[in-house]
Amino acid sequence: MHDVISPVDEQVVATVPSLTEAETDAAIERAHAAFATWRAVSPGDRARLLRRFAAVVDAHNEELAQLEVRNAGHTIGNARWEAGNVRDVLDYYAGAPERLSGRQIPVAGGLDVTFYEPLGVVGVIVPWNFPMPIAGWGFAPALAAGNTVVLKPAELTPLTAIRIGELALEAGLPKDVLTVLPGKGSIVGQRFVTNPLVRKVCFTGSTEVGKRIMAGCAEQVKRVTLELGGKSSNIVFADADLARAAASAPGSVFDNAGQDCCARSRLLVQASVYDEFMALLEQSVKAFRCEDPSLESAQMGPLISAGQRDSVRSYVDDSAVAFRGSAPEGPGYWMAPTVLTAASARDRHWREEIFGPVLSVLPFADEEEAVRLANDTEYGLSGSIWTRDLGRGIRVARGVETGALSVNSHSSVRYWTPFGGVKQSGLGRELGPDAVAAFCEVKNVFFSTEV
Ligand code: NAP
Ligand code: MG
Repeated sequence: MHDVISPVDEQVVATVPSLTEAETDAAIERAHAAFATWRAVSPGDRARLLRRFAAVVDAHNEELAQLEVRNAGHTIGNARWEAGNVRDVLDYYAGAPERLSGRQIPVAGGLDVTFYEPLGVVGVIVPWNFPMPIAGWGFAPALAAGNTVVLKPAELTPLTAIRIGELALEAGLPKDVLTVLPGKGSIVGQRFVTNPLVRKVCFTGSTEVGKRIMAGCAEQVKRVTLELGGKSSNIVFADADLARAAASAPGSVFDNAGQDCCARSRLLVQASVYDEFMALLEQSVKAFRCEDPSLESAQMGPLISAGQRDSVRSYVDDSAVAFRGSAPEGPGYWMAPTVLTAASARDRHWREEIFGPVLSVLPFADEEEAVRLANDTEYGLSGSIWTRDLGRGIRVARGVETGALSVNSHSSVRYWTPFGGVKQSGLGRELGPDAVAAFCEVKNVFFSTEV
C-alpha cells in the first residue's frame, strides 16, 4: 500500500495499493483475454460504449476535478478543463470505429484489401503532471481501435485514474478492457515493457526514463510512443503586441506551477524592446495568483512534492532573479513564480528542463539569432512566436525545430490536432485525426480469383 499525499497541505488523502509484478502480469493476461471479445464488438457498439463512457465522465466532472485539486494541487479551473478533456477525447475517438476503413488496391487476378487491425493489449504509462488528459490521450484512441488498455498512473497521482477506471465499468465497458494498475514505475511500468502480451507502450514522462523504455521495447521490437521533456521558447519580436504578449507570458510557463512539458520556460525578447517588455512582464507576474488551488481565482497551486520543489529551487541563484511573484507559506509545497535573467545561453537554468515555476529570459538581436537560440537545445516540443509581421511569423515558425508551435498565442494542445515532440522531446504523435491508426497494424490480404 502507498500513501497519497496532497501537495496543498501535506496531508494523506488516500492509501492505494502498489501492485506487484505477479499482480501486473495477471492483469495483463486478463486484458489479453478481454481483447478477443472487445475487438469483436461491432464498430457501432464500440462507438456507443465510448460515447456513454464520455457521458459518465462528464457527469462526474466536478468530482474528478475536486479529486485532482486535492491529489495534484491543480487549480480548480484547470482540473475541470482536464476532466472535460477526457470527455472530449472519448467523444472524438468514439467517431472512429465506423470510419476506420482500409483500402482496396488494384491488382490483376484478384482483390487486394488492407485492414486496420488492433494491436492487442496497449500499456499506457502516465506522469504526475497531467494525470487525466495524458491517460485519456492514450486510452481513448487505443480503445476506439479495438485494443484493450492497461494504464499505470504515476505513484504520486493515481486517484483520478482509479476513479476513471471505475467509471468505465459504470458506463458499460466490458471488464478488463480498461484496467488501471497503480504502483511503481520500476515494477508495474517495467512489466508493460517486458511482458510480451503488451504490444505497444505509450509513455509520457522524463527523457531519461523514456530512453530506458525505448531500449527495453527494442528487445521485443515492441511499438513505443514517447512524449518526453521540453524547454520551449517564447519569442517576442519588437513589432508584437507587447501588452498581450506580456499579459499571457506568465500563464504560458507558470500554469500548473510550471510542471508542464509545453511550458514556455525560455523567454527570448528582442533587445530593442527588452526593458519595456520586462517592465510589463513584471506587472503581470506580480499579478499572477498563486494560492489555494480550490479557489476559483487561483492561477497556480503548489508543486507536486517536496523533492520536486528542492529540485526546482536548485536552479535559482538569487543573483539571477529579475523579479518574483508571491506564494503562500507552508504547509504545502509552495514556490513563488520566479523570473531569472540568463547571463548567456550556457546558463544551466537556460538549458535544462526545470519543471517548476521558473522563467529564464535572454535578449536577442534579430530573427536569425532568435531562431538559432531557440534551436540550441536537445528538446523540441512546443513554443510561441509573437509578431505582427506575417512573413516573419511564417519564417520563424518554419525555422524553429519543434513538434508544435503557436503564433500570437500560447495554445499547445487541441485534442483534434496532432501533438508530440522532435529531438529528445519524443517520438510519435498523439491526438488528432491520425491517432487511432497509430494503435493499429495494417494487414494486406490478396484474394486470388483463380480456382
Ligand atoms: P518519470 O519519472 O519519467 O515518470 C513517468 C511515469 O513513468 C510514471 O508513471 C513513473 O512511475 C513511470 N516510470 C518510472 N520509471 C519507470 C520504468 N523504469 N519503467 C516504466 N515506467 C517507469 O516522469 P515524471 O517525473 O513523472 O514527469 C515529469 C516528466 O514528464 C518531465 O520531464 C516532463 O517534461 C515529462 N512530460 C512530458 C509530456 C509530453 O507530453 N511530452 C507530458 C507531461 C510530462 P512512478 O510514478 O512510480 O515514478
Ligand atoms: Mg519521476
